[in-house]
Amino acid sequence: MPARILDGKKIAAEFLDALAERSRATAAKIGRRPHLVAVIVGDDPASKIYVRNKERACEKADVQSTVLKLPGTTTQDELIGRIEVLNEDPDVDGVLVQLPLPKGIQEQAILRTVSPDKDVDCFHPLNVGLLAEGAPVFLPCTPAAVLEILNRSNVPLEGAKVVVVGRSNVVGKPLSLLLVQKSVGATVTICHTQTRNLADEVRRADVVVAAAGRAGLVKGEMIKPGAVVVDVGTNRLEDGRLVGDVEFDAAVQVAAAITPVPGGVGPMTCALVVRNTVEAAARRAFVKVAS
Ligand code: NAP
Repeated sequence: MPARILDGKKIAAEFLDALAERSRATAAKIGRRPHLVAVIVGDDPASKIYVRNKERACEKADVQSTVLKLPGTTTQDELIGRIEVLNEDPDVDGVLVQLPLPKGIQEQAILRTVSPDKDVDCFHPLNVGLLAEGAPVFLPCTPAAVLEILNRSNVPLEGAKVVVVGRSNVVGKPLSLLLVQKSVGATVTICHTQTRNLADEVRRADVVVAAAGRAGLVKGEMIKPGAVVVDVGTNRLEDGRLVGDVEFDAAVQVAAAITPVPGGVGPMTCALVVRNTVEAAARRAFVKVAS
């Protein structure tokens, strides 16, 4: 029997619907809607699509969204200056800087400039450290999207063997931190380009999360029958098609459940950026009331 399709688009729509209520309740407390500012530098077409998707998710949850578009000639100091203004703006709750940045701008310096209490992407070292410690303020959006999809699809994770393919700071590493939390309880293996035998590792997994950015890396024959597959990868082929890291047509015949690309992790990631913005606004309301 072909795998159950884990429809991230549908899950995200339900999630945003429920979030809209929290957003309105927060707005009633702070006297304005929660507000996300996305900063985009240059003309990267994929970045424009990601930012547009985040704007749409904001609309659905009644969250104000502003896109600050800066030219590709923007210098690092200019960008830092713009972020510092957003950090100080009391009407802004969340700030995200869309990656990648143009050559000549150091990503790390920029991500460290975003105020930790507005860092809805959870890229600031303080927030990464809190996550590693098991006391996160913000949850990293793509890893949290993977967990939400699995939880809302009733995939058991306690004691499950999860293989994550990819060890980036954006997906693989923070996802492994989330999965090993006591409240989740998975046993995690992280694979990367130095892994000796990727197929053997993947074959042992109850849940496979592919986040390598390599089309077709995870073949159908690597998947244990009945395993659950989450495909984070988004790869644009020469013919314009968007595909994941998993050979979908083969994997769907073996797996118990699988996320599609597009329409899997992507929409849920956007939804979680919006949730982090609403939470940041709610925390600000609390601080306002408390002080
Ligand atoms: P990244 O920074 O390029 O990291 C890729 C990781 O995959 C690295 O750790 C790399 O290993 C590993 N890898 C690459 N080729 C491999 C191979 N042949 N065998 C084993 N491991 C391999 O990418 P990223 O930012 O994590 O993103 C990964 C993918 O997810 C991309 O396609 C990206 O577009 C997508 N993405 C999707 C969303 C979403 O919301 N759907 C969000 C973020 C990212 P090394 O460390 O050894 O190089």
